[in-house]
Order: sequence, then C-alpha cells, then structure tokens
Amino acid sequence: MKPTPYQCSAHTHTTLCDGGGTPEEMAAAAYAAGVKYYGFSGHAHVPIPREQDFVLPADMSAYREAVLSLREEYAGRMEILLGIELDNLSDVAPDGFDYWIGSVHDFQAPDGEFYAVDYSPEEWVRCRDCLFGGDEMRMAEGYYSEVAKMAARKPPILGHIDLVTKYNERGAFIDETSPRYRRAALGALRALDPSATLLEINTGAMSRRWRTSPYPAPFLLEEWRRMGGRIIVTADAHSPEAVLYGYGEAIAAALAAGYRESVVLTRNGVRECPLQ
Ligand SMILES: [Zn+2]
Ligand SMILES: [Zn+2]
Repeated sequence: MKPTPYQCSAHTHTTLCDGGGTPEEMAAAAYAAGVKYYGFSGHAHVPIPREQDFVLPADMSAYREAVLSLREEYAGRMEILLGIELDNLSDVAPDGFDYWIGSVHDFQAPDGEFYAVDYSPEEWVRCRDCLFGGDEMRMAEGYYSEVAKMAARKPPILGHIDLVTKYNERGAFIDETSPRYRRAALGALRALDPSATLLEINTGAMSRRWRTSPYPAPFLLEEWRRMGGRIIVTADAHSPEAVLYGYGEAIAAALAAGYRESVVLTRNGVRECPLQ
C-alpha cells in the first residue's frame, strides 16, 4: 500500500534547539497522530552569538544520542530519522545524518553584524534598512542569491524557499507579483537540481500564525513541477501539536499547482505517495 503525506513529518524541532517539545514529546505526538516516518531536523550550529539558545551546539553528540535512542524505542512502530536543518551560515557539516534540510535564515554583513530574515517583523525591517539601504527588492535578491548557493550544495530538502516573505501577510513588505521579485525567486528555484533535492511545502508559518498559506508561493510550486521536481509536505513543527499542522492546506496547494504525488522520507529513501 502506498503511504500518504500524513504519515511523514520530516521537518521538526525540539527543546534541544528552539522547539517547545522534548524529543520524547515530539515523537509521542507524532506516533499518536499516525505518523510512520518521523524525522528530527534540529537547527545546526551557527556562529551567531545571540542565536546560541536556538540552535544545537557544535558538538551534536547529545542530539544524535537522543534521536537514536528514540529510534530504538519506536522500532517496528514508527521509523525515526536523524536529520538536521543546516543554515547557510552553519559551521558544521551534515555528515552522518539520514538527511539534511538546507535553509537560509540569516545574513552576515561585511562588518560582521548578523541579520535574521525570520526572527520578527522588526528584525526584518532592520535587515532591509541596515543591510540593503531600505530597498526590499535588494533584500529579496540578496536572500535568493544565498538560496541559490544553498541549492548548489544539493540538499536532500530545500527548506522554506521563500522565507523572506514570512511577514508579508501582516504588512506589505514585498510585492510578490513584481517581475523583479519573481526573477530573483525563480533564479534560486532554477539553481536546484530536481533529481537531487526535494522542495518542501512548509506550513511552519501557519501554525505560528504569521501566514494563512504555506511556503512556497504558487508560482514557485508551478515552476518546480514544470522542472520535474518532487515535493514533500512538512510542518516545520516547533511544538507537539504542530507535527502535521496544515497538511490539508499544503496538499490543496500542491493539487492546485498540478501535482498528483508527493513523497515521504523513509530510512530507505523517498517513497512516492498520491495526493488524492
Ligand atoms: Zn528553517
Ligand atoms: Zn525548521
């Protein structure tokens, strides 16, 4: 029998980085929700002083041990995958993991200052004003050029490709219909290798009430389909209640963009699953 998207949650966080549930609580919630393939993807270390409470330590052995011990505990009932969410500024390698998610969250300015794309609307504005001269299109282009660099590393999953639009529903920060914006976003998308990377439909900003629709925007999903790309539904869950949050909306977005299948991630690789 083919799996369904609801049987997989591969983008999740715990109290070991910036999540609200312990690894045990997250796995228990996933199991109770019927998940068969559960992936931990803690934020890999970044050398940003103010973010140390939000990322794993550079020594990931405690994280690995916690995940591998849960793998034993759930053996035969739910597959546990050891993953990691690597940032563009991460100073660790994704070696020895079942998979990794490549994401862009931060910028480092030439003077060494760090700016986050997704920390708060105020921080977004500070980034635009201090790093990009108040020009939101320059910020979008800067963001997508980092995404293109991440794409070139061929991550198994590319994380929330248009994260730079996180606060767009609460304030008109970027005109997502402008040709200049779309050129930048599509440039990053086309830097991906559809045979190496899955694009995620990520509902993380929905569960946290920043958005009413998942990443990415429809024009990116449609172009990815034309490129022959495959998608995976993820919740970017930061709490036990969120392990499958918004999957219905994510599947609706995929169907609207012309997809008939998504995939689930298993310890033996990806498996295709019908969306209907
Ligand atoms: Zn992320
Ligand atoms: Zn994440």
